[in-house]
Amino acid sequence: MVTKGTAAKKDAAMRRIAYFSMEIGAHSDIPTYSGGLGVLAGDTIRSAADLEIPMVAVTLCYDKGYFFQIINGDGYQVEHEIRWDFSDAFELLPCVIELEIQGKTVKVGAWKYEVHGESGWTIPIYLLDTDIEGNEQWQRNFTHVLYDSTPFQRVVQEVILGIGGGKLLDCLGYKNLTTYHMNEGHAAFLTLYLFKKYKENQKLVRDKTIFTTHTPVPAGHDKFDYSLVYDVLRDYVPQEIKDFAGKDNLNMTNLAISMSRYINGVSMKHGEISTAMFPGAKIDYITNGVHTRYWTNRHLTKLFDNFETDEIPRTASFFEKVWKIDDDDLWRSHNRAKCDLLDYEKSNHYVLMDQNVLTIGFARRFTGYKRATLIFSDLERLARVSQGKIQFLFAGKAHPRDEWGKSLIKKINDHSEYLWNSYRIKLAFLQNYDMDLSKLMISGCDVWLNNPIRYREASGTSGMKATHNGVLNLSILDGWWIEGYKMDPLAGWAIGVAPGEPGCDVNDDALEASNIYTLLENDVVPMYYKKKQEWINRMRHAIALGSYFNTHRMVREYADKAYNLMEQARWSSTNFL
Ligand SMILES: *Cc1c(COP(=O)(O)O)cnc(C)c1O
Repeated sequence: MVTKGTAAKKDAAMRRIAYFSMEIGAHSDIPTYSGGLGVLAGDTIRSAADLEIPMVAVTLCYDKGYFFQIINGDGYQVEHEIRWDFSDAFELLPCVIELEIQGKTVKVGAWKYEVHGESGWTIPIYLLDTDIEGNEQWQRNFTHVLYDSTPFQRVVQEVILGIGGGKLLDCLGYKNLTTYHMNEGHAAFLTLYLFKKYKENQKLVRDKTIFTTHTPVPAGHDKFDYSLVYDVLRDYVPQEIKDFAGKDNLNMTNLAISMSRYINGVSMKHGEISTAMFPGAKIDYITNGVHTRYWTNRHLTKLFDNFETDEIPRTASFFEKVWKIDDDDLWRSHNRAKCDLLDYEKSNHYVLMDQNVLTIGFARRFTGYKRATLIFSDLERLARVSQGKIQFLFAGKAHPRDEWGKSLIKKINDHSEYLWNSYRIKLAFLQNYDMDLSKLMISGCDVWLNNPIRYREASGTSGMKATHNGVLNLSILDGWWIEGYKMDPLAGWAIGVAPGEPGCDVNDDALEASNIYTLLENDVVPMYYKKKQEWINRMRHAIALGSYFNTHRMVREYADKAYNLMEQARWSSTNFL
């Protein structure tokens, strides 16, 4: 009989890929993610589990989570600490490792959470935790809150993730890893751990490491003063650090790039932008996706499942079924999803939405470049376009220290008052956007609005979730939508010009807002109310896009281009190949 310990060792020895991410949306009840990056990490792991990829994942265990958002009576965001007990959901590991931070020993414990794939294959996620016995209180605080962004706290968290994570995997017997995948620069201190481990041989580190960048804006990349890094890591910092990570300060992206054999952006355009931003680095792209089964609403899933076949589910051919679904069935299933959303909405908001009215949704992190208030640029024109014919649902959290993001939330709530009082237009801002609310919204709205400042959205994934559910995208041509709209312009609408066309490098808020109004007036509203069949047909086109914008396709691409798994003869799995 195999004992548990031996089985665990055997399992560890066959894992090849270690996936490091500051946040992972592993489950909607585990509030340790803030937005798209974490949800993508969760979807990646869900697909990797379905595809039986020999992966293990590492993140931090934020025991106070990312905050719960309340919208107060005046329309402001108020943050509330989350109370949750993860000791039921997670298994505490016997293994405790030690790190030196500011010259003092910090103990790092780890919890395990398992993601189960369709065939029963599991991927362990290890969550690192310094809130354990033997640490002083200030050390216990290190892993309390996600993105608690004093530079000191942030460096320390990234040290725990990268160096702590690397150490933990060694301690647990992961001795045959061929690829360390750093999901965003937060994990780049891992390379310093590997640099030590491989006797300062940069080539060996590079052979083992790959890096995915997610930020097309220079300011979005983590940079730290060297004095801070030296203070935290002392003589752990290698002499060559400035060659690896930048002269003036330590840029986590530069560090990751110097130390990786393969680097990618997350959409075609983002690959191009990243290449221009980091001259000399070879940067590929692998366009993001979402996990189809997770993000397709239950009514549509049921329709699909009515087509009994023995195909492997969720492959490209799965999506072919959409062309066989009856108009009425598709429309009915969409309206059931809409009903689910509005039921939730009505019990959580005082603006009661109407099932028969075209519903436009907008929900994502509230950060400046996403221009949440763009559609309110000209309220009188918006009113003319939408009176009685459109209602709006908004949601999203602003980072607690992002006053600008918070002011946008307040503005939208003010617009809600004004639009109702002056024009009887319904606009509701739903509080506490999370994966559960996201699923309701991307399933139950009719149109999904996305209008970032052009080329700031590396990929965007909520629009992919919407498309899976037959919700039509109305979006700026940025990130994934450049590719999606090109593949099938009937899957939604494009706001403004395409890359390469005159004017594509200017962001003119007024012009783009005007473009939205015109599209609503001439295309979206008339089609929704007067050409239902055309609308339903477009829903089919939208759903069919899911055949590309899903994480099964994405993970296969990583396996092939980044993990070199296809070449590893030792690895074979019917699902995977
Ligand atoms: C999918 C998702 C996001 C990402 O949305 P984008 O449109 O890509 O910004 C953010 N937050 C939550 C909770 C999500 O489910």
